[in-house]
Parts: sequence; structure tokens; C-alpha cells
Amino acid sequence: MARILITSALPYINGIKHLGNLAGSMLPADIYARFQRARGAEVLYICATDEHGTPAELAAAAAGQDVAAYCDAQHAAQRDIAERFGLSFDWFGRSSSPENRELTQHFAHVLEQNGLIEERVDRMIYAIDDGRFLPDRYVEGVCPHCGFEKARGDQCDNCGRLLDPTDLIAPYSAVSGSRNLEVRDTRHLYVLQTRLADQIRAWVDQHADWPMLTRSIAYKHLDEGLIDRGITRDLAWGVPVAYQGVARPGFEGKVFYVWFDAPIEYIAATCEWATAKGGANPEREWRRWWRLDEGADDVRYVQVMGKDNVAFHTVSFPATILGSAEPWKTVDMLKSFNWLNWYGGKFSTSGRRGVFMDQALELLPADYWRWYLTANAPEGSDTAFTWDQFATAVNKDLADVLGNFVNRITKFAETRFEGRVPDGGEPGPLEQTLYGDLTARLADLTAQMEGLELRKSAQSLRAIWGLGNEYLAEAAPWTVIKTDPVRAGMIVRTGLNLAVLFARLSHPFIPFTAEKIAEALMAQPLLGAWPAADAAEALGVLAPGSPIRAPEVLFKKIDDAQIAAWAEQFGGA
Ligand SMILES: [Zn+2]
Repeated sequence: MARILITSALPYINGIKHLGNLAGSMLPADIYARFQRARGAEVLYICATDEHGTPAELAAAAAGQDVAAYCDAQHAAQRDIAERFGLSFDWFGRSSSPENRELTQHFAHVLEQNGLIEERVDRMIYAIDDGRFLPDRYVEGVCPHCGFEKARGDQCDNCGRLLDPTDLIAPYSAVSGSRNLEVRDTRHLYVLQTRLADQIRAWVDQHADWPMLTRSIAYKHLDEGLIDRGITRDLAWGVPVAYQGVARPGFEGKVFYVWFDAPIEYIAATCEWATAKGGANPEREWRRWWRLDEGADDVRYVQVMGKDNVAFHTVSFPATILGSAEPWKTVDMLKSFNWLNWYGGKFSTSGRRGVFMDQALELLPADYWRWYLTANAPEGSDTAFTWDQFATAVNKDLADVLGNFVNRITKFAETRFEGRVPDGGEPGPLEQTLYGDLTARLADLTAQMEGLELRKSAQSLRAIWGLGNEYLAEAAPWTVIKTDPVRAGMIVRTGLNLAVLFARLSHPFIPFTAEKIAEALMAQPLLGAWPAADAAEALGVLAPGSPIRAPEVLFKKIDDAQIAAWAEQFGGA
């Protein structure tokens, strides 16, 4: 049995994510995980909240909360919304866990043993009134590039340029507003990525099968030349710079940089999962997914993320892993996505621009969003969300094609065949054509799903639903029943089996609807099994005589008044 480890980029802790975050990491990873489970693979799908760093501290301060309590509440909120979107994590962990603390400190220790860590003196902004250094977002001021007046120490939100806190003109403390600042020396740890550049490039070279987007970002960074990277900060919230309980001398009160510990959480979250599962040997349980010398050599590891995270996963995190010289599992397939934009611009968490996951579910059920975001996945290029396109995907694909088919065939079976799967009759030429078309489409869909090609998979699935409607239109059981009830029964049996097939194939994409269809046709156990390659076999799963019923209306169409109201509420159009 294949073993597949899947991780999606860790959502940052400060608040519910927007649809762009969902489209480019968690949703595609979930679809892939559901598909591989149905294929019979042993799947472990891991995600977690990324909880350290200055944005969490600042958001907690703004909310008047202790940062740990803030993270507790935000983690619970994100876990709840993920569940309501049907994201089937095997574990949704937290980067602030003891497991991550220990592993992060372990990696820093072995990197240092391998001569890849160096202490350096940095010049950092110190706020005399606050009595603290002001790393990253703790300092704000005027952008030296565009003159924007509220640029943050790590980045200008106006021109997008990355900044160093000391670049800012007229800086002030984001904590107190104080301008009583000075530049002071402070010691920090650096990972010597320059020494690992050749090794990282050789490792990237081994992955010619990665998508173009992933490879181009990886090589861009490698070609520009890696720089040694500071991995500690003058902050209180984070993983302490310590080893085996003892703080590093001179680093008391400092923590590892959030980007150092966050990807290590993929491994640590697997420890959390194994511990929570409470088996006989949790240590062995998680290590068989991650240690090549303890069983992970047959694991296929798939990472899913937006393009802004690719450099960290093709350069920085590999520097940690490869630099450790320990036999850790590295990623086999790194699937990356472009941006899902909100009309002409970007979704923005800080600016509350666009639709957020909690708001989305107040408007419509999860499957409507899941389908739209998959059928319009930002794979080849950036994609813009529009209400019109969203309504088209829901009305044309879900309501007219899938919903209409399931509704017609189950209603007809309910009224004309006493709610039972009809018996008798033999497949004719029309059915043989259907088997052939379906078998070909099924092969395409399966290959596209294996290749994590979201848009193509959605197109193939929609085409398969379409075959159902075409078949019913041609076979016309409502006419045939008047002259040849046996033949009509055969058609209805085929149609009901098609509905079951659609539920099975649609389950990774729109799990809630698939469950409704399967339940109405008494076929729930089949949802967990991807159909065999031969469509004739897949269309013979319902036992003649078994009871069925018509499900409630599966999809409600979106009308113009709703679009107008939502455009008003959320902007756009
Ligand atoms: Zn700027």
C-alpha cells in the first residue's frame, strides 16, 4: 500500500483566512488527500497554525490579550472553520507546541555541530522608552522607496518592497509610538546558507518533475545567490534559543525567528498527532513518516502552498534539513499556486479585503466555494475572483449539470419504480457507448488527480457529469416507459448507478454533496473507494431491488439580486 504524507502551508495564527489562502494551499491538499485515501493509500495529511512572530504579538496586544491566550482562541477558531469547510486534516497542530520547541532546538544544535551556525553582531533599533529591541513589524516609519508613511520594519504594504527596520525614515515604535529610538548592537545566530548552496541546488536539480512555477522560484533564488540568514530575534514569544533546557549564554530572552521554526512544525505536528493517537509507540509512529532510516524511505511526501512560500520550502527549510546531515524525509512533489486575486487587486487580511472563510459560509454552503475555487484554481497564472464567475460555476456546473441529473433520475425512480433500483433488461448500444466514453474520461480524471492538476481534474469531472445528462436525454426513459418498461428500467438502473459514480468521483471536491447523494442511494461505503478503471463495472454497483430516494435539492441557484447584494457588501464588480 502506498504511503503518502501531505502538508499544506501553515496558516498564520492572526485571524480567519481569506478564500485566496484556502484556494492555494489547504483546499487542494485536502482534495488530494481525499483522492489518495479513496485510492487505498495510507495517507497522513498534516497542517497547523503558525503561531510565532511579531504579527501574533501585535495582534494580541491590539486585542488586549496575552499572546498565548490569543493563540489558543485563534487556533480554535481556525480549526472550527477548517472543519466546516470539510478540510480533512489527520492533524491540525500548533507551532507553539512543546514538540516543535524541542525539534527546533534540536535542528539548531545539529546545524551548529556541523559548523553551519555563526554568532554575529547586528545593529538593531532599540526603543529606550519601551526598554526593548524593535524587530520586524515592531517598528514603523516612512518607506525609503515610495514615501509611504506607515511602512513596517519588514515590508512596505504600499510598494511591497522588503525592508530592514533600519531602512525606515523617521521610525517610531509600533508598541508605544515612541520616537525615542537608537541603534544598538545585538547578537544573533545565522545559518550559513552560502555553504549549503551547492547541496541545495543539487537537491533541486533532482526534482525535474516539479511544476514550472515551483522550479522557477527555486532557481531564481539559487541564481541570485543565497545569503546567510539570521534565525533569531529579540522577542519574548517564540521558541527560546536554548538546548536541553539551558539557554544559550547571551541569548536569554531571545527566540528563534518564526520562519526557522514554522516548517519544522510539519514534523513536530506529526509528533503531536502520534502522541494524541496514543498508540503503543508514538515515537516510532511519527518517525516512520519522517526518518528515512526508520521506515520513511517508501513515503511519498507532497507539499502544497502559494507561490510566496516556495522560496522558504525550496531553499530555507531544505537548508535546515540537508544541513542537519540527518536522514530526514524531504519533499518529493512541491505543488505551488499563483494568487487568487479579489477583482483587480489582492485579498488582504490586514485590510479585510475580499471574502473570508467564515463570511463565505454565512452566504453559502462549503461545497459551492470548494467547487468554484477548484474549477478556477490559480494554477497557470493569477486568477481573479468575481461574483459573476462564481455564480456561473454554481449555477451552470453544480445546479444545471450535477444537481439536475441527480434530481431527475432519482425523482423518476421514486415515482415510477417505487423507490427501488429496477431489475431486468440488458445494456444496449447506447450503454456501450456510455461505458466507452466514461472509461476514457475516468482514466483522464484519475491521471490528472494523481498529478495534482486541479483545473483539469475539475474539467474532467464536469465532463463526466455531462455524460450523464447526455445519456438521459438520448435514452429518454420517460418516453420509453410507455412502450418498453423493461428497457426503461434498465435506463433508470444505469442512471442511478451513474449518480453513485458521480458521488464517488465528486467526493474529494464537494464532500458534503457527495455524502447526500450517496446516502439517498444507500451507497455511503462506496465513497471511500475510487472506482475501478472499467466504467461498466462502476455502473453495476447498485443491487436491483434495493431502496433509493430522491435527495433534497442539492444546489440552489444564485440570482442577480444576491450578486448585487454581495457586491455591495464585499466590494468588487
Ligand atoms: Zn514603499
